[in-house]
Order: sequence, then structure tokens, then C-alpha cells
Amino acid sequence: MIIGIDGPAGSGKTTVAKLIAKRLGIFYLDTGAMYRTLTLKAIKEKVNLSDQNKLKEIAKELNLEFREGKAYLDELDVSDQIRTPFIDKSISQVVALPGVRSIMVKLQRSIVTKGNFVVEGRDITTVVFPNAKYKFYIDATPAVRAKRRFKELTDKGMDINFQELDQDLKKRDNADKTREVSPLKVSEDAVFIDTTNLTISDTADEIIKHIK
Ligand code: C5P
Repeated sequence: MIIGIDGPAGSGKTTVAKLIAKRLGIFYLDTGAMYRTLTLKAIKEKVNLSDQNKLKEIAKELNLEFREGKAYLDELDVSDQIRTPFIDKSISQVVALPGVRSIMVKLQRSIVTKGNFVVEGRDITTVVFPNAKYKFYIDATPAVRAKRRFKELTDKGMDINFQELDQDLKKRDNADKTREVSPLKVSEDAVFIDTTNLTISDTADEIIKHIK
């Protein structure tokens, strides 16, 4: 069984998906973390981020593992490194490359053959798992999403300029919604949940209510 959740940055997807997986006792896959790790690896290797052939090579050989909620690249814990404004700014170029996406989608599909999963991202309900048993799209106002992202980063001790973060979030949203390949959109058969005034726990309750 697959529960697919799509939505923009700061909608609460990641935290909610983790909570649902825990409550239902199933696995969880954060596809954004996969694209983030790929982007980090390309930056470390000083690759031009629009060089599709080079990025495809990196994607094919990506040594990525998720263990206990942490992301490992080449055996190193990169969970914090992949969630920085620098990666946020660089990632849109990488995720717009169709050849790169098709390698990552194959990888995502092969991972979920291992059991029941909550999978979250931007194209899960539309492209990666269009036949998922349960589909959700979660959103919140741009102001609330920017505040959530600001809190997430400052809680980790990062020194963040709110205005800059707000602008970057809008740019990334726009890139995600307008790119040619697998843009972020609401799947016709997805349940839409506005999390603007909901806590994480409320949102998880709402999703689980639909599943049961
Ligand atoms: O979800 P998260 O914010 O970590 O995702 C980072 C970026 O990865 C998104 O802005 C989006 O551009 C990209 N992404 C994607 N397709 C997915 C998941 C994430 O294009 N399935």
C-alpha cells in the first residue's frame, strides 16, 4: 500500500508523513531528501548543475541510504547539510532535468517494493505513483509556510534572514509549479488539506481519518 502526499515547501508534508508512518507502523520515503542529496553530491563534485549527462551519472551511482530518519551520502550523515538555504537555492536547476528525474523515479519505485510506504514529494500522486491507494495534497498560505521553514532552520541554530528565505521559497514554489517535467500540481483524485490553521497532529489525524 502506498500513501502519496504532495505539496509545496513548508506545507508540513515531511513532518506529517513521518508521523503518519509512525502511527500506522509503515515505512516513510522523503523524495525531496533524495533530490537534495543528489544536489549536494553534484556540488561537492563541482559539477555544473545544468550538465544533464554528468548529473545522470551521479544519480545512477548515488550511494544514498536512509537509516532511522537520517540521510547518508557515501556513508556520511548529511541530514542537516541537505537542508540549508544553499541547497534550496541550487536544487531547482537539478530537478528540472528530465533524464535525472527518470533515474530518481525508478529508484523511488524500487525502494517501495519493500513494503507499505508513506511517500512524499511534488510528483508522487501524479507521476511516480499515480495508482497509489491514498493520495493527498497538503498546502498552507505562503506566509505560514515561510514562517514554518524559518523556524525549522533557526531551531537548528542557523542564522537566517527571513525576507531572503521568503523570496527563495516563492522562487522555488514557482519553479516547482511551472517546470515542464513533473510540475507540482493537485492530482484530480487527491484529497486537498489546507494546513494553515492545523497542527501537525491535526493534519495527521485528518489524513488517517480518510485512510480508515
Ligand atoms: O520537499 P523538499 O522541500 O525537501 O524538496 C526539495 C526540492 O526537491 C523541491 O523544491 C522540489 O524542487 C524537488 N522535489 C521534486 N520532486 C519531488 C520531491 C522534491 O522536484 N518528488
